[in-house]
Amino acid sequence: MGEFQYVFGPIPSRRLGRSLGISPLPKKTCNYSCIYCQLGRTDKMTNTRQEFYKTEDILEEFKAYLKDSDKFDIVTVVGEGEPTLCSNLGELICGLQELTDKPVAVITNGALLSDPQVREELCHADMVLPSLDAYNQEIAKKIDRPYGKIKFEEEFEGLVTFTKMYQGELWLEIMLIDGINDDKESINAFKELLLKLRYDRLYLNTPVRPPAEEGVNVVSEEHMKYAVETLGGISIEMVSSGSFFSEIEDDYEAVKSIIGRHPMNQFEVSGFLESRQVENKEEIMEQMKRDPEIAVIDYKGILTFRLC
Ligand code: SF4
Repeated sequence: MGEFQYVFGPIPSRRLGRSLGISPLPKKTCNYSCIYCQLGRTDKMTNTRQEFYKTEDILEEFKAYLKDSDKFDIVTVVGEGEPTLCSNLGELICGLQELTDKPVAVITNGALLSDPQVREELCHADMVLPSLDAYNQEIAKKIDRPYGKIKFEEEFEGLVTFTKMYQGELWLEIMLIDGINDDKESINAFKELLLKLRYDRLYLNTPVRPPAEEGVNVVSEEHMKYAVETLGGISIEMVSSGSFFSEIEDDYEAVKSIIGRHPMNQFEVSGFLESRQVENKEEIMEQMKRDPEIAVIDYKGILTFRLC
């Protein structure tokens, strides 16, 4: 397969399965300069939406990719920057959907959700994964270091409005950083904010992969545990290491105990079983589908399991 400019992957992900990335803007073009960003400091800092690349060029490349392969579970508009900065985002999402039946997701820092046009465009996506790293302007300045004019309150109001109007799957993500937003007071502040939002899942993350900047540390296990319990979220680390409740010996019962606390999609169940070296993964999944205590939700071909 030839070299692509806009299409990359698919990258295996325990949350999204095989995720085929679409990068609609030049590297490190962002309205944030997060301290945990793996790309380093943002050199193309902007908050002005523009058409970086022509929609038709991106779609042509996607079409060329599809000729050779359909081995992916989801298309993710992500890029190495902030995709809502693309003024052709809505058009791009719809164009991708016309070319594939797989769900189209957008990963965003959420800064531009204060813009009604951005909210409307994102409504076309099958899944939206916005971040919420701060609970006030001061914390936003410490972690996300947003472009000058961006106000946390406006951003958050935009997120509230969006979560209420959006009909697709919404997965929120909070990045917890040691010593900045991981103490009890911070977690309780997040809890207050979350009450105002409508979302399907909450993922809690911490910079486990080394960020480009020094002094950015992972949160302690104790703080992550408090956050998981207080906010009802899922730790991404737990998802990727498959370390949920491993003290339960029986594999089937172990999965049931996890989905009793929060839903898991087919990729997460599969990853969890893999981490336990389970050979009959498919059988277990089939058993789950038949289990009257388990509800199976099919969203655009991706199954999510939860206890009834
Ligand atoms: S929003 Fe994403 S791309 Fe932008 S600085 Fe933060 S981590 Fe990096």
